[in-house]
Amino acid sequence: MRTVLISGASVAGLSLAYWLRRHGFQPTLVERAGAVRSGGQAVDIRGTAREVVTRMGILDTIRAHHTGTHGFAFLNGRGERVAAMGNTDFGDSGGIVAEIEILRGDLVRILHEAAGTDVEILYDNVITRIDEGAGNVRVSFDKAPPRSFDLVVGADGVRSGVRALTFGQDQELVRDRGYYLSYFPARTELDLDGWELMYNLPAGNGVGGRVALLYPLGDTGQVRVLLGFVAPDLGYDRRDLPAQKQLLAEVFAGAGWEIPALIDQLRHTDDLYFAREGTVRVDHWYRGRTVLLGDAAFGGSLGMGTSMALVGAYVLAGELAAAGGDHRIAFAEYDKEMRDYVTRNRKRAASSASGFAPRTRRGIWMRNQLMRLLPHLPGASKMMSGIHKAANSITLKPYPVLAPTPDRSESDQPT
Ligand SMILES: Cc1cc2nc3c(=O)[nH]c(=O)nc-3n(C[C@H](O)[C@H](O)[C@H](O)COP(=O)(O)OP(=O)(O)OC[C@H]3O[C@@H](n4cnc5c(N)ncnc54)[C@H](O)[C@@H]3O)c2cc1C
Repeated sequence: MRTVLISGASVAGLSLAYWLRRHGFQPTLVERAGAVRSGGQAVDIRGTAREVVTRMGILDTIRAHHTGTHGFAFLNGRGERVAAMGNTDFGDSGGIVAEIEILRGDLVRILHEAAGTDVEILYDNVITRIDEGAGNVRVSFDKAPPRSFDLVVGADGVRSGVRALTFGQDQELVRDRGYYLSYFPARTELDLDGWELMYNLPAGNGVGGRVALLYPLGDTGQVRVLLGFVAPDLGYDRRDLPAQKQLLAEVFAGAGWEIPALIDQLRHTDDLYFAREGTVRVDHWYRGRTVLLGDAAFGGSLGMGTSMALVGAYVLAGELAAAGGDHRIAFAEYDKEMRDYVTRNRKRAASSASGFAPRTRRGIWMRNQLMRLLPHLPGASKMMSGIHKAANSITLKPYPVLAPTPDRSESDQPT
């Protein structure tokens, strides 16, 4: 059986493990975190990605976890709602909230179950070295003995470790987006009433525009918090949680609204995800026996990262099966199949953070006015329908009939 090492056990890595197993390959995952990471707010499953989850047999489970949020409400400096964009304003798959929106943690758990909880995952581990030989790849880990695999997949996000080892450094391959995002869980006394709230602060405390987004989890008072800010690359240690918390506390010091209560809760959580945003630019997504998938290959879209990861996993595994495991054919076909779809979806990526985290009070006011008017502007629907078209701009090939999933006989359906 052909063995495939996948770095990163998130949307891309777990989906690929699912499809590889159905095609008779043996995947092993290696994940930097101590468990599959459950954090984040919600992610959208748009266009063709919906067909992929249908073929995985998990559409109904995903629908059962649909968040049911009403859309975004934009707040002024006093915390009053001044604009809103509802999830029905621009129709299915074209609006600000897709028809299928699910908490990222729920999706990752469903994908893990679909892949089979018996799939091998080397947690708390990273690849430190990749040596390609004539017939396989020798891989070293930071906390496990070296092993050989037929193929290696980098599904380890925008700051991919596999890409850095095989393709080149982030300075050359990732266009910096100029801002940081962080996610953590918290509680609030506010009544969100099913709306995601967006509160902005102008530049201050040594950084540019700042933003807080509260994502409601039903009417439980629990929220998923996003704190973001614009700043040059400040350099940070991915594993230094206390330093990341301290930075966020400094950046948001003196802020009003709910911020002090959120920062207070941030100090006590272990579940913080902190990242610098970037757009990945790689000419070809493969080198020899190593290939990139998901954000590691095409990170940096506007709300399409999860959909592209799901579609990419289907295509990559399908092409490997169609080529009888010959990576030279399969990787080139995967690149060819995905390129146009990825290009179209990334055309819509925000080029800067100005709309998300405006620098000045006037900029925040203007953005809120625009959001208030946008649903009523002539031509706005046409503009938003571009998202729908791009999300549907790939047709899934009918790859060969698949082998049964080892521990899920109900997903033994031909595609
Ligand atoms: C904790 C978290 C929260 C997120 N929250 C949101 C959100 O709220 N909204 C949104 O739109 N997108 C969010 N994202 C990004 C979103 O999941 C992706 O854009 C999209 O789903 C594509 O997924 P991916 O699997 O390619 O990459 P990612 O989801 O980024 O997953 C990469 C995985 O690789 C692991 N990893 C990183 N480096 C290494 C390494 N060197 N070795 C081994 N493993 C490594 C990470 O821990 C992670 O599990 C979040 C990502 C994470 C990790």
